[in-house]
Amino acid sequence: VDAIHIIGGGMAGVEAAWACARAGVPAVIHEMRPKVGTFAHRTGDLAEMVCSNSFRSDDHEQNAVGLLHWEMRAAGSITMEMAARHRLPAGGALAVDRDAFSAAVTAAVRGHPLVSVVEEEMTALPDDGSWIVATGPLTSGALAKSIRQATGAEHLAFFDAIAPIVHADTIDMGVAWRQSRYDKGETEEERTAYINCPMDRAHYEAFIDALLAAEKTEFREGETAGYFDGCLPVEVMAERGRETLRFGPMKPVGLTNAHAPDVKPYAVVQLRRDNALGTLYNIVGFQTKMKHGAQAAVFRMIPGLKDAGFARLGGIHRNTFINSPTLLDDRMRLRARPWLRFAGQITGVEGYVESAAMGMLAGRLAAAEAKGATLPPVPAATAVGALLSHITGGADAKTFQPMNVNFGLFPPLPEARSGRRGRAERYKGYTDRAKADWTAWLSGTVAQAAE
Ligand code: FAD
Repeated sequence: VDAIHIIGGGMAGVEAAWACARAGVPAVIHEMRPKVGTFAHRTGDLAEMVCSNSFRSDDHEQNAVGLLHWEMRAAGSITMEMAARHRLPAGGALAVDRDAFSAAVTAAVRGHPLVSVVEEEMTALPDDGSWIVATGPLTSGALAKSIRQATGAEHLAFFDAIAPIVHADTIDMGVAWRQSRYDKGETEEERTAYINCPMDRAHYEAFIDALLAAEKTEFREGETAGYFDGCLPVEVMAERGRETLRFGPMKPVGLTNAHAPDVKPYAVVQLRRDNALGTLYNIVGFQTKMKHGAQAAVFRMIPGLKDAGFARLGGIHRNTFINSPTLLDDRMRLRARPWLRFAGQITGVEGYVESAAMGMLAGRLAAAEAKGATLPPVPAATAVGALLSHITGGADAKTFQPMNVNFGLFPPLPEARSGRRGRAERYKGYTDRAKADWTAWLSGTVAQAAE
């Protein structure tokens, strides 16, 4: 069989290549880094995590992204395998040592006899063959132009933001303390995975004032179109109301100040471990578009961070995605040019895991097609299927926005199982059903691919 070509070796691209290789179909990844960089990537490694070091909740009974982890593992995902090997304690979340993780994925993918990697920027969409476009939110300009020409539809550009990273040894542990919210976690390490900085009311009010007053990087005209709510800059949350942060990332619940157990903090800033050594911590939820000079001053107002050294300040970035509901068929092919599939964040899913999952699926679909097989439709009640259904038809094309996986995308449970039952039971119902459907689909895949 002819090789499948994949543009972009990020979360989606590596999964697509891995899925092809597992199905016995050769894959070629065309990756522009390290020759051509982006402002967010730092390395030439495949599957680089550009911001948070977390794949979010690993709870596959009560959480949709945890379920997605489960489905990906069942399908032989390379990112999930390497995430498990380089996991860091983070309560119920699947956090990893980002450099070790990317290095391991890179070694596995480059080392597979059926996968090759070409270091080049693709500047135009190819006219034939079998291709998967997985160039992500920071698709290079030339290729973005070519995609726009091919789709005839407009790209949307909007901004997410990077949370700042602090050197652990510059945090004042005489003020801050280690504790995961509600002491979550199996081990002592996990129960103490976060560093917490308490604020009293006066501190909080002064901090909000400083956030509001700080100099921001301005949006250019039209750039805020399609702004994604899931990654709001901290100062934008503060603009929405003085209490918003106290009920969001700074909520003081489930935490007891080790230095003053009887004093309930008015708000708490949490920092999450960012590397295996435990030398770096990111400020959870503090993605920002404040100017760099302003950031250091504002964040050093946080009790415990007075002398903080920043390994990386927050930043802003563009996100490129296509209007998938209009453009893609249910096999992720561009309707107008079916030799081109799209996968990853560029299809309008949001997040590392979602992007990786869509890459894995595109790889499976392309590999089956290359072998002359047609896979049965992906069940819509699975996490993978729910995402696919959303981007290829479920979402309203006119208001299409990037989407994280969530139970709201799943078909409702039969009345008897949803009804007046509690949320926990409902979520368990979703995840049980998804696991059964996914397992059945995967075994069908094997049978079909072997034909
Ligand atoms: P990527 O992982 O970006 O991979 C695309 C690859 O294509 C890159 O390696 C790039 O170099 C390459 N490429 C681009 N153009 C070309 C070309 N023309 N030719 C060849 N190669 C090309 N998600 C989260 O879950 N958590 C976060 O904290 C988070 N933070 C983010 C912060 C930033 C700054 C950005 C931009 C995104 C963030 N995301 C985050 C969103 C998103 O989930 C990730 O970007 C994810 O990596 C997307 O996977 P992908 O494979 O679609 O794209």
